[in-house]
Amino acid sequence: MIALSQRARGIQPSATLAMDARAKELVRSGVDVISFGAGEPDFPTPFPAKERAITAIRENFTHYTPSAGIPELRQAVAEKLQNENGVEYSPEQIVITAGAKHALYMLFQCLLDPGDQVLVPAPYWVSYVEQVRMAGGEPVIVPARAEDGFRPRPEDLEKAVTPRTRALILNSPNNPTGAVYPRDRLEQIAAFALRHGLLVVSDEIYEHLIFGQAEHVSIASLGPEIKAHTVIINGVSKTYAMTGWRIGYAAADDTALIKAMVNWQSHSTSNATSISQWAALAALTGDQSQLGSMRAEFLQRRDYMVQRLQRIPGVRCPMPEGAFYAFPDVSQLFGRRWPGQNAYPERVIHSSRDLAELLLEVGKVAVVPGEAFGEPRCLRLSYATSMENILKGLDRMEAVIKRLVDA
Ligand code: PMP
Ligand code: GLU
Repeated sequence: MIALSQRARGIQPSATLAMDARAKELVRSGVDVISFGAGEPDFPTPFPAKERAITAIRENFTHYTPSAGIPELRQAVAEKLQNENGVEYSPEQIVITAGAKHALYMLFQCLLDPGDQVLVPAPYWVSYVEQVRMAGGEPVIVPARAEDGFRPRPEDLEKAVTPRTRALILNSPNNPTGAVYPRDRLEQIAAFALRHGLLVVSDEIYEHLIFGQAEHVSIASLGPEIKAHTVIINGVSKTYAMTGWRIGYAAADDTALIKAMVNWQSHSTSNATSISQWAALAALTGDQSQLGSMRAEFLQRRDYMVQRLQRIPGVRCPMPEGAFYAFPDVSQLFGRRWPGQNAYPERVIHSSRDLAELLLEVGKVAVVPGEAFGEPRCLRLSYATSMENILKGLDRMEAVIKRLVDA
């Protein structure tokens, strides 16, 4: 056996991608599984983006690009940030990356020395903690409780700061909770970050998937001081249903930080895929009407899914304001005994992991256990799937949980 590096030995697989792969594998092998695991829109990529990619191939834009990204796309991102978020960046303050995930990865690599700490409000998206660790940093978890709308309390943030704290992760709209931070909470967080000289890593990838009265505000737009202490992370994956194209970006005032990320990229992926960059340019600058219909469809599905979940005994589900996930608390079901049916032997359900396994094995419904997001009382259900699947999946889930409760 080949000895793995210390770094590699510590890495946990992405629980979200693992659940998605497991569900897809079961479907391929003929099992009728309904997946609420997916973290990606189920809509097709908009037509102009697909067409632009085909043209890019025909016109031979199939070679290396500058490591920072093609100038046209950096310029388009600068205009998008100005027009949609009210923040001004020059193209030199923007790097195009192979997905927002890789932008975050490179950011932590360029920012953290061993032992540096990053505040991560929990529930958090799975990759933050692993990526901080992969950079030698230490994630410091700050609770963001359901009763507080899944936003961390100022006193909990204050308590978590040490001389080693370098940054705070802000993810609004949030994966997995769907929480959206209102302007006054962002102002509080900005004041906190400035007081302690922290960098705010603002992951805004779900900015357009927002419902009702909620409004997306980029923390960088609150003033020049906090803008200088913020790195915006975003991409086209969620807004334009382009997860497979792998295009994201980072924007920061500090050109030296962006330069370091470009250097890092020049030695790792070289550049984001040439064809995908042209497609992303078309998505950002073309007709935006698909976004409205996608949001309307998500809204309907959210309302249906959450109302159904709220009626299942032992399940408590707050109404999320953004993204495409429901995040119900199922802890009232822990300690219940599964009577042993459908070839799944008798056992006690102790955790959301146990419950997720029961739902998959007996109900043929895939969900992601909350442990992966630092909140073991909850399950994450994605409603980025058809209404028909949502209906069927919730019927199955309800039937399994009722049997568990009645047993
Ligand atoms: N941030 C969050 C909160 C996400 O849910 C995702 C989706 N995987 C990403 C970043 C990364 O997106 P991508 O790499 O596809 O741009
Ligand atoms: N962000 C999505 C999710 O949380 C996609 C999977 C991933 O990249 O982790 O499910």
